[in-house]
Amino acid sequence: MFDLIVKGGTLPDGQMTDIGITGGKITAIDQLGNAQAGQIIEASGDLVSPPFVDPHFHMDATLSYGLPRINASGMLLEGIGLWGELKKVMTQEDVVERALKYCDWAASMGVLAIRSHVDTCDDRLLGVEALIEVRDRVKDYIDLQLVAFPQDGFYRDPTARENTIRALDMGVDVVGGIPHFERTMADGAASVRELCEIAAARGLPVDMHCDESDDPTSRHIETLAFETQRLGLQGRVAGSHLTSMHSMGNYYVSKLLPLIAEADINVIPNPLINIVLQGRHDTYPKRRGLTRVKEMLAMGINVGWGQDCVLDPWYSLGTADMLDVAFMGLHVAQMTSPKDMRTCFDMVTMNNARTMGLTDYGLYVGAKASLVILDAGDPVEALRLRATRLYVISNGRVISQTPRANASLSLPGRPQTSRRRHTLVER
Ligand SMILES: [Zn+2]
Repeated sequence: MFDLIVKGGTLPDGQMTDIGITGGKITAIDQLGNAQAGQIIEASGDLVSPPFVDPHFHMDATLSYGLPRINASGMLLEGIGLWGELKKVMTQEDVVERALKYCDWAASMGVLAIRSHVDTCDDRLLGVEALIEVRDRVKDYIDLQLVAFPQDGFYRDPTARENTIRALDMGVDVVGGIPHFERTMADGAASVRELCEIAAARGLPVDMHCDESDDPTSRHIETLAFETQRLGLQGRVAGSHLTSMHSMGNYYVSKLLPLIAEADINVIPNPLINIVLQGRHDTYPKRRGLTRVKEMLAMGINVGWGQDCVLDPWYSLGTADMLDVAFMGLHVAQMTSPKDMRTCFDMVTMNNARTMGLTDYGLYVGAKASLVILDAGDPVEALRLRATRLYVISNGRVISQTPRANASLSLPGRPQTSRRRHTLVER
């Protein structure tokens, strides 16, 4: 007797099977015949995937678009200034309310693990307190990791260093940084060094906004790789954005990528934001400003797409849909071969789970029973359709359902419905 059986779905690897769930865990992946269960969900013809994972988000700023005004230039630096204005007037209750609302969206879209940066450049640490509360309130359905993020510069902001350490003392999970925003390249490198030392001393992971610019001379990822090796942090460090790599010379990149691979650094490009914010100082041709995704994947580096922003000072759109994020990444990185498109799906599931160090994640007996049933035949079709999440199951419990979006047609001699499904037999 199972608590729940998901019947006849197709797993991302193409296997068609039933999944039995008991006590919040996957307890069988097999043809379960007439086995009994408290609830049976019919998933024949639908894709059953592990949940989506967003390794880069800003939950303290989300859903604040237009407060206190919109970003007129659309530039990164105006966004940072605008966020500074909002920080002065926002309350802890505001942040909690916006974050919880966003978590509702995420749950409905099957995003069940999120790593969110939280700004530590605020003597009140109001955002930190708010997101620690939210982390606790959503813990039964979303794994929320928090990164102590000195938005205005670990050294550049007079109290950021002290406040970042305070935030870690309060229980923030990951050490963040923003070396390209420090006053000098040397200060940036020093901030990477000290923040990695803090992480090593506390046994915490590191996740830095790193080289988020079009400046080909920005070299903080090199320092991050070096410090990761020096301090034995391999596998526990992430470099977010790395957009300057787009503009670096090919010779230097040929030296850099092996250093990143050697240090086992996880890489998080954020394609929605990178394509919007980078290349803004160019006339034509305009650079895309996305890091070198395909080249890093070919080196065996773990790369996963992050979302970064939804309706905040930096981005005026966003839907909590990691398939949107992967869809944009696929286009901007030109990952259009069948194999590359398939990889884009793994980048918002398995690869990001590895970056976040999630345990019990995936579809195997013994794993946490968290999964998503999508109105798609396979991962590539899920991307093409940004498919409806028919069911979202977290820890063995159905937490969200969305009806199929079937159009009713009124066309002479044509079928009465269309749902745009079209799975190729051979990929
Ligand atoms: Zn960010």
